[in-house]
Amino acid sequence: MRAIQLLEPGKFPELRDVPEPKPGPGQVLIKITAAGLCHSDIAVMEHYAVENNYPLPMTLGHECCGVIVDAGEGAKPLVTMGENVMIYGPWGCGRCEECAEGYENYCLNAVRMNITPPGLGHDGGCAEYMLVDRARYCVPIGDLDPVAAVPLTDAALTPYHALMHSREKLDANSNAVVIGVGGLGHVAVQLIKHLTPATVIALDVSEKHLQLAREIGADYAFKSNDEAVKSVQDITKGLGAEVVFDFVGIQKTIDLGVKMTKVRGDWNIVGIGGGAAKVGFGNTPFECSVFSPYWGTRRDLYDVVSLAQRGMIKIHTEKYSLDDGVEAYHRLHEGKVVGRAVLVP
Ligand code: NAD
Ligand code: ZN
Repeated sequence: MRAIQLLEPGKFPELRDVPEPKPGPGQVLIKITAAGLCHSDIAVMEHYAVENNYPLPMTLGHECCGVIVDAGEGAKPLVTMGENVMIYGPWGCGRCEECAEGYENYCLNAVRMNITPPGLGHDGGCAEYMLVDRARYCVPIGDLDPVAAVPLTDAALTPYHALMHSREKLDANSNAVVIGVGGLGHVAVQLIKHLTPATVIALDVSEKHLQLAREIGADYAFKSNDEAVKSVQDITKGLGAEVVFDFVGIQKTIDLGVKMTKVRGDWNIVGIGGGAAKVGFGNTPFECSVFSPYWGTRRDLYDVVSLAQRGMIKIHTEKYSLDDGVEAYHRLHEGKVVGRAVLVP
């Protein structure tokens, strides 16, 4: 089968021919119907694969949809052949205290037991077939189109989880700042608009992305630069926003975010761009909470599927064939993708 694999750290991946995988005990085999490309894949290529000792070559892709075509011993009775599913990505042991509470994304044993997500240590979805280690990760998508649905597994799940953390701070008089209206950010804008009465202020460096922000309901959308601080202060009567979501996480956006967060506000740094925040008395607004969430829970994923089925999340996608997948990664790296790039084998 064909698969887009990272062969060497620091380089872009390549499309290769690899053996078709066979499900072992407990595993499920899916025929991929769609795979979303996330900016985290760029971080994987640049440094994550080395830092986390990912076995290379490794097939990329942690946003995956497919049809169940086979299952190994023990998994067969748990799944339905031919079912359309999406794959919950942050795999865990299922038994530790965090997993027991549903926070499999924060599994206490995953590192020690070398349990890794698809495309992030385990072969991922940028291929014709993929192995899923446990049946519980296969979440039914019903009639949703796999291309439109696949970004729900991360581009929607991650901002949904972050928003659930901060939702009670977002009432009718509140403001939410969304920095970076890319794959995750353009879903965040829609989630905040649908699930809270707050005003949404979107910032990006690209006019195309700002245009998308306006189309999907942002109340304000302007360039992410030093003047943006004054604009946010003007909108918020000099107080700052109750919640700031940073979907970039580079030093520039971290430096902006702290100046836009209100006293007792929430500063949600979701992007993994390598920036660092100076936190503490005199550095952050009084009693401001700083979060760096990772992905979301399986419960959250069922919630975002339900929101999508009721038309509350409309993901803007750019569709590519597997043959054009490497080119799509180049476009993502260059900031040219509007919404989410999705591969269809
Ligand atoms: P993306 O490339 O689709 O979107 C990034 C957006 O940020 C683009 O619209 C880009 O124009 C904009 N941008 C770039 N520089 C900016 C700046 N200085 N100010 C404002 N906007 C700027 O990326 P994505 O797939 O949406 O991922 C966003 C970030 O979140 C990445 O760092 C990714 O690795 C990370 N991520 C984190 C998690 C998590 O669990 N914490 C999960 C998924 C992705
Ligand atoms: Zn991701």
